[in-house]
Amino acid sequence: MTNTPLRADCARCAALCCVALGFETSSLFAFRKRAHCVCPHLTADDRCGIHASREAAGMGGCVRYDCLGAGQVVTALFSASWREEPAMLEVFDKVRALHELIELLVTAEQLPLDAEGEHTRGELLRGLDRRGGWSLETLADLDLPEKTRLVHGFLRSLSGSVAGTG
Ligand code: SF4
Repeated sequence: MTNTPLRADCARCAALCCVALGFETSSLFAFRKRAHCVCPHLTADDRCGIHASREAAGMGGCVRYDCLGAGQVVTALFSASWREEPAMLEVFDKVRALHELIELLVTAEQLPLDAEGEHTRGELLRGLDRRGGWSLETLADLDLPEKTRLVHGFLRSLSGSVAGTG
């Protein structure tokens, strides 16, 4: 169980991934885009100008991408668009990374953790998965590198603490 939406709701997002994310030319992206630069396919009303033909246009990476709900959460924290409030993009980067940590901990619930492992998982999750959500102030205070270190350290430790495994 989580208090955090972990799936994108693009209808409630200001197209943050189309601006915040960077990508390299590959089989998934037809061109290189730097992070925090606007995709040339984004229209003035923040819609994808090639939405129905993204695969055919070589932008299959956009079809597959999921911000894990960060987009709609960040959009709701601001009263204007990233066009007026570019700080939104940095907040999106942080919330996306935060949601990735939460999803890792939620997924770890499927593992046969021993009691200590489950306790630690719950403690870490409660520190990230706030009932009522995050505000700009609480997000600013969030030490994400430290939380990332703790979550990754916990997950690495599971090879020794998962019940019934070697
Ligand atoms: S191609 Fe469309 S979905 Fe992909 S980044 Fe550009 S505007 Fe967004």
